[in-house]
Amino acid sequence: MVELEIDGRHVSAPEGSLLVDAAAGAGIAIPSLCHHRELEPSGNCRLCMVEIEGWRMEAPACATRVQAGMKVRTGSPRISAARRAALELALARYHDPDWGRHAAPESEFEFWCRHYGARVPESVFEPGPGPRDSDPHPLIRVDLERCILCARCVRACRDLQGRHVWGLAGRGEHTRLAAGFGGTMLEARCESCGACAAFCPTGALEDRGAEAAGMPEARVTTVCPYCGVGCSYDLGVREGRVVRVLSNPYAPVNGMHLCVKGRYGWDFVHHPERLRAPRVRRELLEGRARAPGEPRGEWVSVDWDTALDLAAAKLEEVRRRSGPDALGFLSSAKCTNEENYLMQKLARQVIGTNNVDHCARLCHASTVAGLLLALGSGAMSNTMADVAGEARAILVIGSNTTEQHPVFGAMLRRAAARGAKLVVADPRRIDLCEAAALHLRHRPGTDIALVNGLLHLVFANGWEDRAFIAVRTEGVEAVREAVRRYTPARVAQITGVPESGLAGAAELLARNRPMAVVWAMGITQHTTGVPNVLALANLQLALGNFGVPGAGVNPLRGQNNVQGACDMGALPNVFTGYQPVGDAKARARFAAGWRLTDGGPGVGERPGLTVTEMIQAAGSRKLRALTIMGENPALTDPDLNHVRRALAGAEFVLLQEILPSATAEFADILLPGAAWAEKDGTFTNTERRVQRVRRAVEPPGEARPDWAIVAALADRLLARQGRAPHGPQAGWSYASPDEVLAEIAALTPSYAGIDAHRLERGEALHWPVPAKDHPGTPILHRDRFTRGKGAFHAVEHADPAELPDASYPLLLTTGRVLVHWHGSELTRRSAVGALCPEPEVEINPQDARAIGLARGDGARLRLVSRRGELRARAWITDRVPEGVVFGNFHFPAQGNVNNLTILAVDPVAKIPEYKVCAVRAEPLTT
Ligand code: SF4
Repeated sequence: MVELEIDGRHVSAPEGSLLVDAAAGAGIAIPSLCHHRELEPSGNCRLCMVEIEGWRMEAPACATRVQAGMKVRTGSPRISAARRAALELALARYHDPDWGRHAAPESEFEFWCRHYGARVPESVFEPGPGPRDSDPHPLIRVDLERCILCARCVRACRDLQGRHVWGLAGRGEHTRLAAGFGGTMLEARCESCGACAAFCPTGALEDRGAEAAGMPEARVTTVCPYCGVGCSYDLGVREGRVVRVLSNPYAPVNGMHLCVKGRYGWDFVHHPERLRAPRVRRELLEGRARAPGEPRGEWVSVDWDTALDLAAAKLEEVRRRSGPDALGFLSSAKCTNEENYLMQKLARQVIGTNNVDHCARLCHASTVAGLLLALGSGAMSNTMADVAGEARAILVIGSNTTEQHPVFGAMLRRAAARGAKLVVADPRRIDLCEAAALHLRHRPGTDIALVNGLLHLVFANGWEDRAFIAVRTEGVEAVREAVRRYTPARVAQITGVPESGLAGAAELLARNRPMAVVWAMGITQHTTGVPNVLALANLQLALGNFGVPGAGVNPLRGQNNVQGACDMGALPNVFTGYQPVGDAKARARFAAGWRLTDGGPGVGERPGLTVTEMIQAAGSRKLRALTIMGENPALTDPDLNHVRRALAGAEFVLLQEILPSATAEFADILLPGAAWAEKDGTFTNTERRVQRVRRAVEPPGEARPDWAIVAALADRLLARQGRAPHGPQAGWSYASPDEVLAEIAALTPSYAGIDAHRLERGEALHWPVPAKDHPGTPILHRDRFTRGKGAFHAVEHADPAELPDASYPLLLTTGRVLVHWHGSELTRRSAVGALCPEPEVEINPQDARAIGLARGDGARLRLVSRRGELRARAWITDRVPEGVVFGNFHFPAQGNVNNLTILAVDPVAKIPEYKVCAVRAEPLTT
């Protein structure tokens, strides 16, 4: 540390730090326009001038490093005059006829001009040379008249997003801000993260609509409702409505950075289609039973008591008539930890079944199962910051990170820019490949052969960590023997990756440690999902990449709270914290806590049904009642025609939702829930960090938070059963989600030390947090694995369930796109939807030519599989290799790729093989 004096105060600052940051750390604000602590310094606005004793001239605090013994003055008449002069220089090129009258928050520039009394020359209010709205971007307004050339936007785009959308063009007085080579932002490959607007100090770049929405009256810090990165930000609130998202510089995961969905995808919260009152089908209200095959009748809006009484009566009737296992519960990775906890408590304590699951089954069930076998814990071992900041090499396999986990994707680009060796293994040439040292383009469904091939070369070259293997692992010999058969020549034949590429990747990954492996659904959504994960665990065990920053196994969880929903036991085989239902001690703990000795149902040791099994069973009426909280199987499950038939035939479906989703068509009772901005609670992000979610606005109409709905339903069910369990963990009278969190902590060793006060204080709590004084565990497996020794498992390549043939000659692989989210029920009802308004299929130019599909904006195609068809716009591109097409599942009806996907599952994790099936393509003329 360096000791210095600023404004007469003694200050300690890290060596090499900038004066402006040292002052900020001591609570002394030095004004600046071009500087921001998250960006590379540039020192061009001269607003941060300070006096330093012994120096002849004032110095810019944003470009001057601290020195021992420095004596700095940040305010004096001379300094104020220098700052005023700097501001007036900027004002000379600033043209804003609305100066001082903006409805949006006062810009930093306006604030400092007012503060220092910078004079605004009359000419400033003359019409300037540039257009006031110069770019057609649908989310960001560009007003070059207000640009002072501080270049913060240029650096925000480059330093945070890893893009180069903005630059300064021209010379001297003709210098101006320009997108790309003079085109539009989107032509310059803008990813619409809005960092440029968030960092702009003048409002030259601004969120479209921010002015019309008006100045927020309050800011409420909460967590993004989309992906598992878990970015936090402030919701700006005015007159009871969210009016914008504002970056919060203290956001622990993301700082000022957000992606397009986080920054601009919030407006669905006030969509006119939001559900405002409970609805019941007419026949149910009239007490008529629907005959098998009879379509559901019209909706009737009812009050909460009527809806909850009918729901409880129906669920209890089914339980008595057909037994507890005739009921199923789909919990939700979009909902809070507290809500997921209550949903599985409802299933187990009140009904007595383990039939509870959620969409983790469809994304990372194989990760959880595989890593439990290998390491004893199914979660991400490290944090995103340490992977991006400390790894010397990173293998990203089966993760389109810049589109699916965009803020972390941008961190990976920055990691490559600082010198980390990035190897991307993906059948598609995804955007991240541009930052990679190597792209391994293996065929879909050949991950095991690829990873075994890497391991073959690790052992063949003696690159394994023998000491680590000897002390911390078991079972290496079987793997060494198995991978002997995965010679580069054989791997090239199976995967299509040239031998030289495999060799280069093996050397990069093995000789640059720590090395982190990152994966997502490209690994997990296969019939070999669990062996795929085991292969990656083998690689990291062999290289000793555990227990240190920048290493580990790093599965990126999809939804905002899919990690939390799993942690909460919304799974058919475990209680909270992965305590198995098959474990007598765990059952005894919950039986005692939940008072299951009161004559009500007990919790069985047999795991319940999974998501896909429940849907099938509902269709065949083995399952008589299905309760769904915020999930949308009618769009997101594989082989949708089959799913829709099953849901249509289900005896009783109770749905809690915020919007009329595709699944609502099949519901008998629809209960309006609250969106993320309307409730309190916690989410757990992909790196096991538990974060506070805060209510910013009230739910619309009579909508209620899901935790309150579940609790009210449980109360009614218990009353009908003649039970009244009470006590700290047995009852259902919760005043707030904080009380539910306290109950979770009491029953869950890994959450035992987590409470509302610690989270409110801003503590970074990565579970396990076994005690109130425990600081949390950002890195797992430091000295020992959760299971003791890390276990190697020999795994072999196996073909996917369905491969192309003469009738269906193309291989379809599926995923998401940047702006949409899952079934896009939210993003289709948001301004972000304008960036991707229709379904799209990527097809290689050779394949397009082969079917006579002409290039052009209007090209459309039809994909057909053995199960259904899809109609979409065609993107003819070599992003996909020849023989492979890629589609997304964001659009309903004929636009959804899940019409085509196959219900073949990994035998252990029961995850469907979304990533591979066989299709044929035909050009469409309309
Ligand atoms: Fe939200 Fe994920 Fe985007 Fe962050 S990266 S803003 S959490 S969608």
